[in-house]
Amino acid sequence: MIKDNLDIVKENIINACKKVGRNPDEVTLIAVSKTKPLCDLQEAYDYGIRQFGENKVQEMTDKHQQLPDDINWHMIGHLQRNKVKYLIPYVSLIHSVDSLRLAEEISKQAAKENKVISALIEVNIAHEDSKFGISENEVFELVDAISKLPNIAIKGLMTIAPYVTDPEDNRKFFRQIKKLSVDIAQKNADNIRVNMDVLSMGMTGDYMVAIEEGATMVRVGTGIFGERNYNAKE
Ligand SMILES: *Cc1c(COP(=O)(O)O)cnc(C)c1O
Repeated sequence: MIKDNLDIVKENIINACKKVGRNPDEVTLIAVSKTKPLCDLQEAYDYGIRQFGENKVQEMTDKHQQLPDDINWHMIGHLQRNKVKYLIPYVSLIHSVDSLRLAEEISKQAAKENKVISALIEVNIAHEDSKFGISENEVFELVDAISKLPNIAIKGLMTIAPYVTDPEDNRKFFRQIKKLSVDIAQKNADNIRVNMDVLSMGMTGDYMVAIEEGATMVRVGTGIFGERNYNAKE
């Protein structure tokens, strides 16, 4: 079933790209495997998936230890500063940086391991109280401040759009984020420590619209692994 779902998602990505004349190679599919058992991740891995997204440090670290080494692990959930150190040795991209204090901790821990950690700034584009992320007018200042830290590199923006039944309702938000990233890239054209190559936006309900509006990473969970049960123990 996971294989069939992956076929469908990949096909949808190709079609969304076709619609707007994009090259499907520009879009990275991140399989969001939170709450799912190892056997599900292994099945996706065996079918070629190498990008996995998790939202809890402990769960991601456990899975990282038990699965093959050539997986890229994406932290997509809210990150507490005291847990950053556990991720540094292996994380591929942190999507959810939303404060200078968090960025400082990432840079500090990365320095200990002689690493530069890639990160995205999480923007709460719809200003939902329930969501983390900063508002778009705070972004420039935060990017500025983070770009002075030696062991963290800003690669782009991430957003979690509202939960909607009609994905078209989120098009305006995706468009806003894209525009914001272009503005930031322009303003930082001379800053080698900032680039805006990555736009992480779009989930199961709206990734096709997100791709049409410029997403370079889509985070798909339910569409690959099925519904999550938060009460069940793995
Ligand atoms: C859970 C989650 C997803 C995947 O959501 P689906 O609707 O299951 O595709 C994507 N991004 C973030 C940040 C998540 O927490």
